[in-house]
Amino acid sequence: MQSISYERARDVPHALQLGRDPGTKFIGGGTNLLDLYKSGIEQPLRLVDVSRLDLSGIGQLPDGALRIGATATNTAAANHPLVRERYRLLSDALLNGASAQLRNMATVGGNLLQRTRCYYFTDPTLGPCNKRTPGAGCAALDGFNRIHAILGASAHCIAVNPSDMAVALVALDAVVRIAQPGGERALPVLDFHRLPDERPQDDTVIAPGELITAIDLPPPRFTNTHYLKVRDRASYAFALVSVAAAVDFDDGVVRDARVVLGGVAHKPWRAFAAEDTLRGQALAAPVLERASEAAVEHARPLAHNGFKVELARRAIERALRTAGGMA
Ligand code: SF4
Repeated sequence: MQSISYERARDVPHALQLGRDPGTKFIGGGTNLLDLYKSGIEQPLRLVDVSRLDLSGIGQLPDGALRIGATATNTAAANHPLVRERYRLLSDALLNGASAQLRNMATVGGNLLQRTRCYYFTDPTLGPCNKRTPGAGCAALDGFNRIHAILGASAHCIAVNPSDMAVALVALDAVVRIAQPGGERALPVLDFHRLPDERPQDDTVIAPGELITAIDLPPPRFTNTHYLKVRDRASYAFALVSVAAAVDFDDGVVRDARVVLGGVAHKPWRAFAAEDTLRGQALAAPVLERASEAAVEHARPLAHNGFKVELARRAIERALRTAGGMA
């Protein structure tokens, strides 16, 4: 094991200054990074601890939006009164993730950056992985690909993003704020994660040395929401398929909707076609059926995950039924 240095950042400018050095990784709760370090998948030369920066606050902004600091723990975010009252979808998604102990340590910034749990990525003894070693090949393509992608995959990687939180954030039109030398940028969480194409080593669009400082949630836009997670066991398991459903009704008719899938793609998958199908309609069984079919129309299942297509379809219908008070 190579040696590694550790430094605690005093403030954001100090963190950005330290983050300029190649081989530096920011560490918050460390629940994913340290696992990957111990198995040799992440090999930082220096860890810069950002967990004690003044970035853990959760509070309302003047325009009614809610800002969640990047180092707020998953537990703090899930249980915050404003999150529970106004963004129940996010609270439920967070509480569906990991275990209580992990949620107590993991930060929301780290949650956005957590890496895939593809077996071939996390266990180097199982075979080559383009995400771990670009150009090496992808053992999952012809391997056991039960948990892998049915949408948006490439010939270079078929991994899925493991976050529950990110699925809910996309449905809520959240924005991630990122500090960089010389300023800050903000982008929709929808655009934060990327599809694998020819660069599966890049999970997100964040550049080396940039630091997530906060997540902003716009004032609530949806009257009815539901997060549904389907997994192999009742807790401490990643989603086979998850759905964040958010609907805004106007006199019984869907004015606007979000349907976002987890566990099916390299990023939270916003089902735009399903949303288009719902707008202007009353939530009735035929509409739900058409919406769910539209969501998986372009699915490309692999040898071992064909079940995910039907599972996604049924999960979408059930999540929308529950959100709409039909269940
Ligand atoms: Fe690696 Fe992606 Fe292939 Fe998994 S699916 S082995 S993460 S390249």
